[in-house]
Amino acid sequence: MLPDQRKKQILDWLEKENQLRVTDLSKRLGVSEMTVYRDIQQLTESGELVRTSRGVSKKTSSSSEMAGRGSCTYCHKPNAGRQQIQLIDENNHVEHLCCAHCGILRYDDLQNGVSQFICKDFLTDTTISAKMAYFLIGADPVMQCCQPQVIPFASKDQAVKFQKGFGGSLYTLAEAIDELNSQMNVSGCCKKH
Ligand SMILES: [Zn+2]
Ligand SMILES: [Zn+2]
Repeated sequence: MLPDQRKKQILDWLEKENQLRVTDLSKRLGVSEMTVYRDIQQLTESGELVRTSRGVSKKTSSSSEMAGRGSCTYCHKPNAGRQQIQLIDENNHVEHLCCAHCGILRYDDLQNGVSQFICKDFLTDTTISAKMAYFLIGADPVMQCCQPQVIPFASKDQAVKFQKGFGGSLYTLAEAIDELNSQMNVSGCCKKH
């Protein structure tokens, strides 16, 4: 087997098995451990593998996603709440934001660079595209995150019901961008908190 075929094979196995030991790889591939080490070295350098205490594992996008989930790209607060937002650009790079407030402002910053703007319906936790969502701004506080509070809803009916109890005004994504920008100009930037 050629070195390139071996490397592809190693990555294929890791895709299914997550973690492999060098001795196992050496047996499976029928090559010396030294050869396996050399293959692994190259794959590690190219960023496709990570060395672990027990062997190697595939470098998954989740390791970088986990890092991103640590804090909000926009306001840099820790992403702790359940109302986190994901913005995905054309290169599949994922940004994590603490709530719809930061999601919308960041989306506005990036403009056309965003291919997906994913948020969660406040009532059902269903994942929805922000482009289809309704946003309630100015309601009574129900989320402990950025001000002004922005609450996403998948269904306009449910958003209206919620609004009857908690107040605020409903906006589409485009309207919410305008509304937030105008409110931020008056009250200052959320980055201060
Ligand atoms: Zn934020
Ligand atoms: Zn927030």
